[in-house]
Parts: sequence; C-alpha cells; structure tokens
Amino acid sequence: MLNNIIIAIDGYSSCGKSTLAKALAKKLHFIYIDTGAMYRAVTLYLQKNNIDIKDEERVENALDDIHLNFHSRDYQSHITLNGIEVSDEIRQMGVSEKVSEVSAIKAVRREMVKQQQRMGESKNVVMDGRDIGTTVFPEAQVKIFMTADPKVRAERRFKELQGKDEKVTLEEVFENLAHRDYQDTTRKESPLIRATDAIILDNTNLNEVQQLEFVLEKVKPFTFEYQ
Ligand code: C5P
Repeated sequence: MLNNIIIAIDGYSSCGKSTLAKALAKKLHFIYIDTGAMYRAVTLYLQKNNIDIKDEERVENALDDIHLNFHSRDYQSHITLNGIEVSDEIRQMGVSEKVSEVSAIKAVRREMVKQQQRMGESKNVVMDGRDIGTTVFPEAQVKIFMTADPKVRAERRFKELQGKDEKVTLEEVFENLAHRDYQDTTRKESPLIRATDAIILDNTNLNEVQQLEFVLEKVKPFTFEYQ
C-alpha cells in the first residue's frame, strides 16, 4: 500500500504523454518524471562512447558510469547525464532510432526501473513511460493508457522537430514511431501493454485542455485535496 500518490501514464510513442504529465504535475503540484528521457540518455551515452549495444556485457558494465539526474524548472523536466544537461540532445533522431533497442536490454531495464521506483518512493509523482502501470508501480492509484491515430502522432512529432530545426521528413518520423511501437510492444522485458486497470485515453481529437480535464476528473477521488 502506497503512502504517496502515483499517477502512471503509459502509451505509444508521441501520444502526448509528457504534455499531459507536465500539465497534471503543474496543476496538482506533483513531481514529474519522464522515464523515456532516462532510456534516451543511456542511449546517448552508449553512442557517444562507441559502445556496441549488441554487446550486453559491455552495456551492463557501462551502466555503472552513467549518472542521471532530473532538475525541474517550471514543471519542465531537464535531465543531466554525468552532470551535463542533455534534454535537447536526447530528442534528436539519432537517439530516437536506437532507443528502443537499448530499452529492450534486460540490464538497462532493471537499473532504470530500480531508479524510477526510488524516485517515486515517498513523493506524489506523475510518471510517464511504457511500463509504469505494469512494472514500475503496479500499485499506482491512477493508471492512464494513452493512444492516438498514428498519422496524427507523426504530424505532431514532425512539427515539434521542425521547431527545433531537425532535418527530417514526415515519413521518417512516421516510420520511427511505427518502429518504436513495434519494438516496445513485442520486446521480452516488460513490453508496452495496457494494465488491465488502466483508463484508456485516445486523444486523436482532443486538445491539451480537454485531455487534462478528462484526467483530472478521473484522478479526483485520489487528489481532491490537491486540486
Ligand atoms: O517516451 P519516449 O518516447 O521519450 O521514450 C523513448 C523510448 O524509451 C521508447 O520508445 C521506449 O523504447 C523506451 N521507454 C521504455 N520504457 C519506459 C519509457 C521509455 O522502454 N518506461
């Protein structure tokens, strides 16, 4: 039985999980933890240090040299990798292309899940990812499973990347999302799957305000004192 409140948000790539999670955290004064950023930062480290991701032993050893920290400013989460802020770098396509392979490695998952459980141990948190409601916090009071039309998701992500001057086509973004969804749902270690007690949120036709209202209504029984 948890003494603190955990809101777990899982779902497919680029469904707007982090947008919703940040808005919820801000409204409720909870801490926001972006678990995808952790897998991305591990991927970045392996790439920068030329560590072959097929060499699981080397990857496992490298985990000892990876120190991740979150800093929250205005409910935007910033992640540092060994003391250096990498929040923008980890969103680049080079990392997106490899992150699902890295996140499928058992030792990587074991370590990240351990750190995530520690971060949500005694605080009220909104955590987003792929396995929060199933593996990291199966006892979370509220679980949301997000989904949206794949074309709409690709368009949203494409716009976001264009704003950051990334040279990438809509087709490439669409392919990357499809590839990650496939890898994330079919991997052996805690695949992306809806927890049986998760509430489904399809935001294909919802804007940010509408999706926040939908979830605030669902979390009210647990968070009425914070709303
Ligand atoms: O959420 P985001 O798209 O940034 O996550 C990047 C990748 O990290 C996902 O495609 C998935 O492979 C992995 N991930 C995961 N488990 C989580 C969060 C992210 O496997 N809890």
